[in-house]
Amino acid sequence: MDCLFCKIVDGAIPARKLYEDDQVVAFHDIGPQAPVHFLVIPKKHIATLHDIGEEDKALVGHIVHTAQRLAREQGCEEGFRVVMNCNEQGGQTVYHIHMHVLGQRQMHWPPG
Ligand code: ADP
Repeated sequence: MDCLFCKIVDGAIPARKLYEDDQVVAFHDIGPQAPVHFLVIPKKHIATLHDIGEEDKALVGHIVHTAQRLAREQGCEEGFRVVMNCNEQGGQTVYHIHMHVLGQRQMHWPPG
């Protein structure tokens, strides 16, 4: 399958990994939008949020918990933002679900 993030999971493309277990990988974003900006992805290929099934509920919970734990480790006790973009109108460019975690700067609302 020609998926950039599956290649990062497989190690075919290098990434600056923060964490890995049997279900998820977390790595620094290549184009950081904040002093802390990393992505948490499932090892399982799921293209978009529309494709999450009943069977993925625990996996999605694990992604959120991993994001929270790593955000704290990265010094984001004061706060952080998570973003998941879905499909073209949602601004998604890589079609393997990923949770952005951004921190160490003031966030604003609404996002663009
Ligand atoms: P957007 O590109 O608009 O942020 P996404 O929500 O699909 O849309 O996010 C994809 C993210 O993946 C981007 O923040 C991009 O910088 C990041 N990215 C792309 N390629 C790599 C890579 N090889 N290693 C780390 N991050 C990457």
